[in-house]
Amino acid sequence: MISKIIDESLVEGLKTLVEDASSVVIIGHMGPDGDAIGSCLATMHFLRKVGKESVHVMVPNAFPDFLAWMPGADEILVYEDKTDLCNEYLRTADLVMCLDFNSLKRIGAMENAVRANSGKKALIDHHLYPEDFADLVISYPLMAASCELVFRLICRMGYAALIDLPIAECIYTGLMTDTGNFSYNSNNAELYVIISEVMRLGVDKDRIYRNVFNNYSYHRMRLMGYCLYKKMQIFPQYHTALITLSEAELEQFHYHPGDTEGIVNLPMSISGIYFSCLMREEGDKIKISLRSQGAFPTNQVAADLFNGGGHLNAAGGESRDGLEAATRLFIERLPDYFERQG
Ligand code: 5GP
Ligand code: MN
Repeated sequence: MISKIIDESLVEGLKTLVEDASSVVIIGHMGPDGDAIGSCLATMHFLRKVGKESVHVMVPNAFPDFLAWMPGADEILVYEDKTDLCNEYLRTADLVMCLDFNSLKRIGAMENAVRANSGKKALIDHHLYPEDFADLVISYPLMAASCELVFRLICRMGYAALIDLPIAECIYTGLMTDTGNFSYNSNNAELYVIISEVMRLGVDKDRIYRNVFNNYSYHRMRLMGYCLYKKMQIFPQYHTALITLSEAELEQFHYHPGDTEGIVNLPMSISGIYFSCLMREEGDKIKISLRSQGAFPTNQVAADLFNGGGHLNAAGGESRDGLEAATRLFIERLPDYFERQG
């Protein structure tokens, strides 16, 4: 048995929203990761099992190839590519479910279409400080992944028996990717009760690991080597590593969405490195990924310097000032955080 963490009124609220809806759109964030895709697809499969006929999953931009095996992934609508169709579904949906993000800024160009939708909105997420745009906000930052929340919600609504292998695989993927294969943010014992449940439904966790983590392209692997050999800067006095990648460099390695996923974690394997930053140029913006171990608040750094946010140990943001200026800002401000943290 897992404990009842989610407030009963929220469970009831969600149940009512789901019962009252006939057309549902489920949305994940920009740069969708395993937890975004996993929680959206698990919810899609679940809603179909309770009889909803019009259920669509949408994400703002492409998701990585290493998630393409996920059950239902071929049905995901990428807003960038299918804008008119997505707008039409969003215009008519009577329930919009926002999964794994806390602010409409995180869905980029989809924001206006979501705001314009006149149906109900439900936010289901594990990031701090949810924005106040939804009718129902189910926000539990202590959850390891939004997938954990989705699993718990399905159970609490009384539908545990409907969780089948596709749903279980989606849930497991989100748990695995948001915890770096259970290497951070994964000390809650109940997480392993959930894993045990989904494995009993047939989840082959070793296969999912291989699909997600042993599925890199040759170019992506070389990009990783390039980052470590040529691009990693270490600031030993601040226990920090920094990697920056320009668009030209990414092109050299035939960049695909998702190729830089996980690279920010690599320097943390170095003894004495507790804070890592990856900056990636993408059009007119710089995408920043931050990771830490221990008490160092990456979300604070993301909010202060890069108009972003996230969790304590994994956060991100953006800069519009170019790679050089973003790098300079990061290096200049690093001592502040080091001194603050001691
Ligand atoms: P990643 O480095 O994998 O892109 O993002 C790690 C985490 O940082 C995400 O799960 C999300 O919580 C947060 N994050 C990433 N980019 C942004 C951003 O631009 N704004 C905000 N508020 N959070 C972000
Ligand atoms: Mn997540």
